[in-house]
Amino acid sequence: MHEISPNHPRYHSLILREKMAQAFKEGILADTALIAHGRGEAFDYILGEKTTLPAMKAIEAASATLLLAKIPVISVNGNTAVLAAEDVVKLAHLLSARIEINLFYRTPQRVVKVEELLKKAGAKEVLGKEGDEHVSVEGLEGPRSRAHPQGVHQADVVLVPLEDGDRAQALVASGKKVITIDLNPLSRTAQTASITIVDNLVRVIPLLIQEMEKLKECSREELEEVIKEFDNNKNISESLNLIAQHFKKS
Ligand code: ATP
Ligand code: MG
Repeated sequence: MHEISPNHPRYHSLILREKMAQAFKEGILADTALIAHGRGEAFDYILGEKTTLPAMKAIEAASATLLLAKIPVISVNGNTAVLAAEDVVKLAHLLSARIEINLFYRTPQRVVKVEELLKKAGAKEVLGKEGDEHVSVEGLEGPRSRAHPQGVHQADVVLVPLEDGDRAQALVASGKKVITIDLNPLSRTAQTASITIVDNLVRVIPLLIQEMEKLKECSREELEEVIKEFDNNKNISESLNLIAQHFKKS
């Protein structure tokens, strides 16, 4: 690890970068995972490395949706496991949600390492392991089509931080509510999801937990009202406006 001073203006960002680089060296992540992280960093920089108002609105709608879900599933890739395994496990626990591993470039070795990370963070059961049963999501081919019969396949709501556009589209087309966390409001995933949280997953997952604790007391009708008032396209436009404002200012 490189020494990073806490006084450095990009301290938090650099700590995450180090974590990712280390996980790559340990064989947990593919090289392309680092590139995906870099794309996220660029948007995070522009958005001020903080949770914006539109992100908070999406977090509220996502929390209400997750609380009303019959079978919520959290789909975890390498980046999510490396950056937020403990928070993912906490969230899954709070929701009685299932956790399913889904790697973009799936190799048996990386699946085992991601599973280890999740177990170390306290996950009791993890789906999508090597050797687990799987069925194909309609409209997808190859390893990306994998879904566990008791996981993503059965879910009515899937929380999937960092998904690729094709899979997000296929999940939505199969009738699932897809909640994504994606710093790029222009990505196909962001544009396709039912609820798009444009923010860093590192900040979002603890906020989802916090928001859910708050909304837990609400009635079904109140939660439905929160969801009804949320307009995903309008909310994405608000994030894009913040980005545009950033460039006008400088
Ligand atoms: P599309 O959705 O258009 O198919 P993609 O998913 O193929 O695009 P990638 O660069 O492979 O695009 O995926 C990474 C996505 O995840 C990027 O949009 C990036 O902004 C976002 N991202 C990366 N790290 C984080 C993070 N820590 N929190 C939230 N989003 C992130
Ligand atoms: Mg994407």
